[in-house]
Amino acid sequence: MSHVYVDFGAVRIQQYLTRTAGLRGHRAASNTLAWATTDDVIREVVNDLAEINTDAGEADGVVSLRIPVEAGTDTAELIRRLQDSVFAHLRTALPGAEFHSMWGEGDSYLTVYAQVLEPKVRRGEVRRDLPPTAEFPLAVPCRMCHTDPAVGTEPLPDEPKALCLDCSMRNVSRRQIMADDHSPEGRLRSALGLKPAPNDFAELAALGGAQSGRNHLATVSVDGNAFGVFFKALAEEADADANAQWGKAAISRSLSEATRTALANATLELPLTTEHERLCVVPHVVGGDDVLVSLPADQAWAFTLTFLREFGRLVHEKTAAILDELNASRAKRAGLPALRAPTASAGVVFAHARYPLNLLVESAGRCLSEAKKEFGGRQASVQWLDITADGTDAPKHKPLALSALWDAGGMETRAAAALSGLAKVGASHRARLTEALRGSGPLTAAAIAHRVGHLDAVQPFLSPFDQPEQPPETGIELGAALGLARWWPCA
Ligand SMILES: [Zn+2]
Repeated sequence: MSHVYVDFGAVRIQQYLTRTAGLRGHRAASNTLAWATTDDVIREVVNDLAEINTDAGEADGVVSLRIPVEAGTDTAELIRRLQDSVFAHLRTALPGAEFHSMWGEGDSYLTVYAQVLEPKVRRGEVRRDLPPTAEFPLAVPCRMCHTDPAVGTEPLPDEPKALCLDCSMRNVSRRQIMADDHSPEGRLRSALGLKPAPNDFAELAALGGAQSGRNHLATVSVDGNAFGVFFKALAEEADADANAQWGKAAISRSLSEATRTALANATLELPLTTEHERLCVVPHVVGGDDVLVSLPADQAWAFTLTFLREFGRLVHEKTAAILDELNASRAKRAGLPALRAPTASAGVVFAHARYPLNLLVESAGRCLSEAKKEFGGRQASVQWLDITADGTDAPKHKPLALSALWDAGGMETRAAAALSGLAKVGASHRARLTEALRGSGPLTAAAIAHRVGHLDAVQPFLSPFDQPEQPPETGIELGAALGLARWWPCA
């Protein structure tokens, strides 16, 4: 039986969620977005027009439907009606968001996704649904987002304010959200059985250790590497060999499960989680292979590295059998090189807890792109920016491969151990070294380190004295190492 697959997605979802200041509004929008795209709600919306496509996997802000069809049926009118009703539902729930929809027909979702839906998105051949433009352009602007015109006055904790439709939806208390919580934060909390995360960003930052100053947060944006290439290759081989099974129906679903499990494991393994028995990570969006979270700055490296490692391990596990068959078929059919299991990369940005999340999301996205680009999306990698220490300019250091810090056997590398050593050096000494390095270079920094007795901690990040053109033994330059050490766990 052939199916028409109709997908819907929220566009620039991270920017949309963070268009109001403060965690309160993000939480409400994140909860509504997750609720509006749950299977039960969508089933009511579409009635008997379509069924839920269970092969697509779970992702906030994404709806995947399918309609069984006989070959040659004209489905244009049916697809249009289906899109109209889903768009109308999403628009009511999330007045300020932007959505798109695309469709394609075929025997399996994987093939339709790789060969029709994904190329359509890339070429912009989608049906869009945009927020309506203001009827009265001169109306007072909304006091919460300063983006859309206000439509009415709403009670707020301090005073009543004129709000737009989208901000009225966001104007709910934490208690109201927790009573019916579909958000990625609520799901993570109940999956792990932890007490709720703090109320706002300042309280979240205050959970950090004494040395952190308890006022800095990290924003971590993670995204899968080269999943498109993997899906496309799988679809091609499946087309070439109609008998191939390879569990391809469930592949998209098992990858979105890997994302959720990696998030849960990385959160659970944080020292802070054990110490407080409460959620110390606030996920804003959890998609199929992407995650955006805020957490105390001194937990960021432990979280990010564990997430990337766990995601890689889980995806490897879930795809090992499929990859064996896929690679054998590629080699036999067309002499194509073997594909490896997809991984994920991360962008990490450190800033004061008061720094606006929408700007952090942009910076984290840029770091993420740099990390992916540096390694061609072929291995797990990370790029970071410390806004407090280095400003908002693009980072001057190179992104790091995860393999520079964890080896294939899951053991800490020499570089990671050396970073722990450098992190144990007092913060004021590290600040002096950074200053010396910027002023007169690595030799001066080394001389200072020698004088105060920290040369051992610095040496692994210096080129050999007689071969200054050689990279340091750890592969990490002193400037980058000092930046990493600032928030590196030094237990
Ligand atoms: Zn507004």
